[in-house]
Amino acid sequence: MADATHNRRPFVLLDPPSGDHFTRRAALREKEDAAAASFPSIDLILLSGSLRAAGFEPMFIDAQLDRMSWDELTDRLNVLRPAGVISLISSAHVESELAQLARVKSSVGDMKCYIVGTIILQQQPGAVRSLVEANPRLDGVVLNTAENNLVEQLTESSGDAVEPFNIARRVGSRVVVPTVQVRYGDSLKLPQPEHALFKDSRYSFPQSKRAPVTCTQFSFGCPFTCEFCIDNQQYRKMLYRDVDDMVEELVRIDRLGFREVYFKDLTFGLNASVTRAMLEKLASRRLKLRWLCTTRIDVAKPEMLALMRRAGCYGIEFGIEHAKESVRRRVDKNITEDRIRSVLTNCRKLDIETTAFIMLAFEDDTEQDVKDTITFANSIEADYVSFNLVNALPGTAYEARARREGFLREGSNDLSFAVSNIKHKYLAQERVAELYREAVRSFYLRPKNMLRRVLGIRSVFELRKLIRLGRASVLGV
Ligand code: SF4
Repeated sequence: MADATHNRRPFVLLDPPSGDHFTRRAALREKEDAAAASFPSIDLILLSGSLRAAGFEPMFIDAQLDRMSWDELTDRLNVLRPAGVISLISSAHVESELAQLARVKSSVGDMKCYIVGTIILQQQPGAVRSLVEANPRLDGVVLNTAENNLVEQLTESSGDAVEPFNIARRVGSRVVVPTVQVRYGDSLKLPQPEHALFKDSRYSFPQSKRAPVTCTQFSFGCPFTCEFCIDNQQYRKMLYRDVDDMVEELVRIDRLGFREVYFKDLTFGLNASVTRAMLEKLASRRLKLRWLCTTRIDVAKPEMLALMRRAGCYGIEFGIEHAKESVRRRVDKNITEDRIRSVLTNCRKLDIETTAFIMLAFEDDTEQDVKDTITFANSIEADYVSFNLVNALPGTAYEARARREGFLREGSNDLSFAVSNIKHKYLAQERVAELYREAVRSFYLRPKNMLRRVLGIRSVFELRKLIRLGRASVLGV
């Protein structure tokens, strides 16, 4: 293998100029100057450490945030002359974005071009292979951003000599698409991510109180089987990172001046003993850094919540989903209403803000069911509510059932949770869209919630963010 420090050519991590396709960028639609919330992708953050380890100078371009066109991006890359680009790609617009990337690559010349293969893309049989075959300018698809041998491939002078691990690519005249493997067992050690690249005061989370913000991840996977979930398709069991590495990364983030970090774990704290070990160490470092995470109501035991608070947690997102317990059970959230209310009360006592994720309009929901769910969401006193329309994403058990039972609207390629691709038994599509807008407004424009938010403002940053969120709620973005 070549010396990993021989080459300090830039290697660009790219969030490409793709309009309004990314779910997390829904609020960045062209006509909206103000983004309600936007933050860098955890996939690019994880890959940044690998690029440094491979001897490159990692760089980050967020073309969406900078409102950069494809032509402007090409000009920028022609100046930088990077050794390569790893780009995010929108699952719903793969072909057009790959065509743009190919155009950029042919203009820049000697530059590797990889994309991050989304889970949705990987769930479509044969999609990754046909994509690499059909796009000769595409060098590879990273199938797993935490576990792969990108470093070996990029530092090897003849890339063909290294059998790809969790990376699909051309090897000689063949296209190799390995079956994705995950290495459960030992804790995972990752090259330390290069958070400094992602430091930008324009980023924030919807719940942010301070800036700058960044993202990290302590665990991968989730063993639950919520029917609509796409995120747990790669890791069906939990894989944790090395506790000391994780704490070291958080210390570095703090030293870089970040004030908030978002743990992108699917279910934070599921393995209580590993999480306790990490949180005890983190608490002892007494950082200024504050953080938020996502977990399940049934994981949030009082002692875990207290320790999370002590270690800097200021916010938790919970999948609450629906007003009816029977529906919650059906989607693997076997949680009583009493338990939901008691966990949210515990959080309030500990001064931890809560966000409730709510799914609106399952295929058999009546208008009254949807309205009851909106009322329920407003009654549990969460600090934020994220309403999402039920959508059957490719590769999920829900999509399979929707197809089997004939309630999938085939051909719909909107893969966000703001548009539904299912046929409702009792609701017209237009009514579902109206109910969604009503739900968002019912929470964010509720006088009690507006007053609480205004009284809670502690900084100009929070005031600005509140104005952006308010605009986004009114405009329905
Ligand atoms: S608990 Fe969350 S991450 Fe796990 S399967 Fe359910 S929705 Fe997905």
